[in-house]
Amino acid sequence: MKDKTVIVLGAGMVGVCAALELQTRGAQVTLIDRRAPGQETSYGNAGVIARSSLMPLNNPALWSGLPKLLGNQSVGLRYSWPFMLRNIGWATGFLANARMAPFLETARAMDGLINLSFPAHKRLLGEAGVLDRLRETGWIYLYRNSAAFDAGAFGRDMLDRFDVETEALDRRGLGDLEPGLNPIFERALWIKDAMSVNAPGRVVEAYAKLFTDRGGRIVQASVASLTRLDDRWLANTEKGPFDGDRVVVAMGPWSRSLLERAGMRVPMAYERGYHMHFGGAGDGGNLALTRPVYDVSGGYVLSPMEDGLRMTTGVELTDCDAPPNHAQLDLAEASAREAINLGERRDNTPWMGRRPTFPDSRPVIGAAPGRPGLYLAFGHQHVGFNTGPGTARVLADLMEGTSPEIPADPFAPSRFIR
Ligand SMILES: Cc1cc2nc3c(=O)[nH]c(=O)nc-3n(C[C@H](O)[C@H](O)[C@H](O)COP(=O)(O)OP(=O)(O)OC[C@H]3O[C@@H](n4cnc5c(N)ncnc54)[C@H](O)[C@@H]3O)c2cc1C
Repeated sequence: MKDKTVIVLGAGMVGVCAALELQTRGAQVTLIDRRAPGQETSYGNAGVIARSSLMPLNNPALWSGLPKLLGNQSVGLRYSWPFMLRNIGWATGFLANARMAPFLETARAMDGLINLSFPAHKRLLGEAGVLDRLRETGWIYLYRNSAAFDAGAFGRDMLDRFDVETEALDRRGLGDLEPGLNPIFERALWIKDAMSVNAPGRVVEAYAKLFTDRGGRIVQASVASLTRLDDRWLANTEKGPFDGDRVVVAMGPWSRSLLERAGMRVPMAYERGYHMHFGGAGDGGNLALTRPVYDVSGGYVLSPMEDGLRMTTGVELTDCDAPPNHAQLDLAEASAREAINLGERRDNTPWMGRRPTFPDSRPVIGAAPGRPGLYLAFGHQHVGFNTGPGTARVLADLMEGTSPEIPADPFAPSRFIR
């Protein structure tokens, strides 16, 4: 990449990691975002970096839950019928990919990306001086009764198959690990192959600072369109056009509208989710949790963060910019209050984010078909905070024309984008 100029669009976890990796390989990189780095989806997530994330939402266990989901009352997954009907190709593709064979292809691909990302995150956290934000204590799935635990057997089998280290816990074992939880959970699964951070947005900020400290340029501007001029690409913004030999689109959920304006079809949906911070002290005045937990029937994840206990919600499938609907958050809060001493709400309004998801739950990483010099890195659904560094390595290898450390075909943009 020596002497190449590269424009990276989007300074979330994925764009910042791509910028850092390309810089390391000798490119002159400009990173453009309409906001400061790490202020959108990469800010509001649960901060979990887990090997268990190799399991996409559309896995074979989805079929048995489907009759319940049709009622559209589940706290963990809701959808807008008009959105689903307008995106019927996405919806049928998403279900088709819950069959065993395509699911296994996704699980294998995501496992590879996660395994690349774990050591890369640790290295970057160290180089950026924020290793103290990392906890290597895993995360825990909580089950209110044995029947709910038994219903998770398929997921546990898959984690075993991929050698993800876990430990099944009874009420007492869970109480020993997380004494701040009320004893309402009969069973739990401790995912030991997992880490978490206490402020995802600040981690992205620190990675972005590492990039500028090493000579990278960040421009705050909104990209309205992309145009091709001779053999260069222009990103057009209110501050004028920025041109490069290569452009990387890493605008997460907003990549779809930018590329559709450039004439591409991008069948990607938005799995929206919300968060709220709460107080909630345990013994000694510290937060009542020491690692993230996922209350499976409660439909929420609770993560101890610098700003309090962050409750993140499950999935709301709807338009990117449809008005917020806090019904799932309110239900999840009621469940969480059964589980722990949840203090007062700390944010004035709930935060809302969008997980960008393709029908096979794999991101697109690589060259845009038929558009030399244009590269894509988005669609990371529930795992983009985790897999940003791995994505950057695969992308940079493809841009350099070398063979990536893991197979890149499962992430080829040509799966969906023409
Ligand atoms: C509730 C919730 C919980 C989650 N929990 C986890 C978790 O625990 N672990 C995990 O790994 N993942 C989690 N995720 C998913 C993860 O947050 C995303 O996959 C990831 O943040 C995507 O990163 P990104 O860089 O692709 O996108 P983003 O972080 O959204 O970055 C895109 C950037 O593009 C910029 N942009 C948009 N439009 C323009 C424009 N026109 N011009 C210039 N810039 C523009 C935005 O400002 C933004 O900074 C969660 C998501 C949600 C919603």
